[in-house]
Amino acid sequence: GYDSNVTLRRLANTVLETVRMPIEAGTNRIELGGSIGIALYPEHGRTGGLLLQRADVAMYYAKSQGSGVETYDAAFDHNSIRRLEMVSALRAAIANDELQLVYQPKVRLADLEPVGVEALVRWTHPEFGPVSPAEFVPLAESSNLITALTRWVMIRAMEDHKRWRSLGLDMDLAINLSARHLRDRAFILELMEAIERYGIDPSHLEFEVTETAVMSDPEEAIDVLQTLARVGVRVALDDFGTGFSSLAYLKQLDLDTLKIDRSFVTDICTDSDDRAIVDSTLQMAKRLGLVTVAEGIETEAQLGLLRELGCQTGQGYWIARPMAFEAIGTWVETWRGRMAPALPSVAAG
Ligand code: C2E
Ligand code: CA
Ligand code: CA
Repeated sequence: GYDSNVTLRRLANTVLETVRMPIEAGTNRIELGGSIGIALYPEHGRTGGLLLQRADVAMYYAKSQGSGVETYDAAFDHNSIRRLEMVSALRAAIANDELQLVYQPKVRLADLEPVGVEALVRWTHPEFGPVSPAEFVPLAESSNLITALTRWVMIRAMEDHKRWRSLGLDMDLAINLSARHLRDRAFILELMEAIERYGIDPSHLEFEVTETAVMSDPEEAIDVLQTLARVGVRVALDDFGTGFSSLAYLKQLDLDTLKIDRSFVTDICTDSDDRAIVDSTLQMAKRLGLVTVAEGIETEAQLGLLRELGCQTGQGYWIARPMAFEAIGTWVETWRGRMAPALPSVAAG
């Protein structure tokens, strides 16, 4: 009942606090975390087996929410079953080469010339249909599949990039990294080896890391990003404006590019606050010597205004939607043909 739930949650929190206390081991400091699920007799089950299973579901839920402690609720089940099914299907999809990559172009706003593409992963679940990366990337992150996923994306994108170059298409390649990788030195070394193996000029390769990922452990991120910078690959701070970075960290991060989050671009023509935020971000980026990209450009008016404000690069549905590798060459030709005569109308001088 209510009382035992309250008592148990209190107890569980005490256990978690104890687990979370850092352990000094010589010169190392070990920090542990945990998640606890609670199931109550008799309301959640009358057998030991069922209670354990439901405590397990509650534990997974606590883990996915980062909440520490959760008491079983029938509403968790649906989610956790879909989740477990998705994780095993995703594991199989990676192993069987069943993911797809699409590429979304970026253009220089001054002359609308295509300058690069961002690789975005796609997955169609055999039963659930297309699943958004916004759903399955976090799933991969919480189940240790993210390393295999990024490795797959990285290798496929580098092979594609090589083919583009042989066709005379000279575009930079951007790949999204997960927060996890900023804590995984071995994986970063693996990436650097792959860069060498594929013979890609590192200055044409950009890794996008979200501001939130960096800010979850800035000290560690500074270190990893410096390692990447040393090889000469570029680093972009993605979704900028959503993660509260401090300016002090921004300076230390060895960044090349700031990607202004779509949420500021959406209403830039109508919301003076958004416009002011973008304006001051662009000025700050200029001072710090960073390239600026605005993402989520959906109208010509947004593009024109961003160019006027001094943003260097743009990306979004108005320019191009993410597309298959094979479609990029044709897109570049069509875009150039369409934009050359149209240029003066969007030019801001
Ligand atoms: P993101 O890196 O911020 O990628 C931009 C997302 O916005 C993409 O969604 C893209 O299709 C969408 N988008 C682009 N232009 C517009 C526009 O004009 N309007 C609107 N409404 N949306 C636009 P997508 O492909 O669904 O990816 C969602 C997120 O999933 C990405 O956000 C990224 O965080 C993650 N993701 C995608 N691919 C990968 C990957 O290979 N590795 C990792 N770690 N994460 C990935
Ligand atoms: Ca991105
Ligand atoms: Ca983004």
